[in-house]
Amino acid sequence: MKYLSTRGDAPPVDFEDVLLSGLAPDGGLYLPETWPSFDAGTLAGFASLPYHEVAARVMAPFTGPEIEESTLVEIASAVYDGFEHPVVAPLVQLDSNDWLLELFHGPTLAFKDYALQIVGRLFDHVLAKRGETVTIVAATSGDTGSAAIEACRDRAGIEIFVLHPRGRVSEVQRRQMTTVDAANVHNIAVEGTFDDCQALVKAMFGDARFRAESRLTAVNSINWARIAAQAVYYVTAGVALGAPHRPVAFSVPTGNFGNVFAGYVARCMGLPVDQLIVATNRNDILARFLETGAMEIGEVVPTISPSMDIQVSSNFERLLYDYVRRDPAAVRRAMERFRQSGRMTVAAVTMAGMRGLFSAGRRDDDETRRTIAEVFRRSGNLLDPHTAVGYGVGREQRRDPDIPLVALATAHPAKFPDAVEAATGARPDLPARLESLMTLPERVETFANDPAAIKAFVRDRIGRRGAA
Ligand SMILES: *Cc1c(COP(=O)(O)O)cnc(C)c1O
Repeated sequence: MKYLSTRGDAPPVDFEDVLLSGLAPDGGLYLPETWPSFDAGTLAGFASLPYHEVAARVMAPFTGPEIEESTLVEIASAVYDGFEHPVVAPLVQLDSNDWLLELFHGPTLAFKDYALQIVGRLFDHVLAKRGETVTIVAATSGDTGSAAIEACRDRAGIEIFVLHPRGRVSEVQRRQMTTVDAANVHNIAVEGTFDDCQALVKAMFGDARFRAESRLTAVNSINWARIAAQAVYYVTAGVALGAPHRPVAFSVPTGNFGNVFAGYVARCMGLPVDQLIVATNRNDILARFLETGAMEIGEVVPTISPSMDIQVSSNFERLLYDYVRRDPAAVRRAMERFRQSGRMTVAAVTMAGMRGLFSAGRRDDDETRRTIAEVFRRSGNLLDPHTAVGYGVGREQRRDPDIPLVALATAHPAKFPDAVEAATGARPDLPARLESLMTLPERVETFANDPAAIKAFVRDRIGRRGAA
């Protein structure tokens, strides 16, 4: 498969380069040249396969010919055999036609594991083949950091540095990063905010010499391989509920638009998706966009669903590209306007197309707590706040009650115990395998908000790897 940049000013590249580079050199995002698709018989056959087999089938058209399906089967079985639930992404029934898709059975209890665990091993595979090494640098406000660390720990070709704002992530989130005992994992606590951490990472990438000598790369949510790996659970959920003979609707708690875009990919590949519901908290730029046709940036406000406290949804550019019939000049114009003024509008005909598939809504913290309480009373299930935003908006926005509604459960309730307890009176327990988290020793270096000092630290640690 060849990949094109949404901005049209970069040469087409193959999967391995897309994997290792993330962003295209023209500032665009990569998309496959064509959408591979499955016929009804093939989709129906997925219903009887284990998760890792479906993962290999769904991803193979995107990774080939460089990475073959047999390699993907090995990688996917190594990853998903380690997950806590035998069906990997189980469906739990919440109401007569409402389902919860549990995506929190990976090592860090959030859906990001489902893709990042695959991406870590794909990096390893490609780097070993090429005899190369990379340095991954990431900023985190909580969840992404631990998922990236778990995905990269002990991988021979990777050194990973994760910056978090000191004292501004929860204790569970911090310990999920700092208790990882792996020589290639480096935690950096920054005296500052998450925005400071992001600016530090940006500065490292902006320093061309440092970037080249450290072979910096990212595993952020614009990496295409993450999207491809996320399309898998839409397919397994859809076929479990009767696809391809029966359509299905998904409701997705959304921040960067990566997860819900993977649902769009599954639909492009032939899954009969009737509706994709974009659920946001008060940081509702996407909900406002789908209502008004204007994308308008606002202030980030903190909520009880912090992984969605985002105002710029990077992956939206991919959707825009497809809906303007893959005209890169139109994407360039829109993104340039947005960068300059914080606002862009989309033609009425494009909006009409998007609204045929996508609906959106928002929930504030009170409404979210009410959804958590109500679902607990009715069914005994504890939803984390992100999941509750998704399910609440999903029920409001679903068009056809006869079509199964799948709400994506993106985090385990025990990752946000205070919010869940405040809503229900019940405190969710960490799964047994994570109980040691609160007693294991922590490894973390604290730095002032000082780019030079942090770069020197990164250089020093990479140098030690070279010497080892
Ligand atoms: C990252 C995250 C989201 C948002 O997903 P996007 O792909 O950025 O839209 C939602 N819920 C949880 C728990 C997350 O960690």
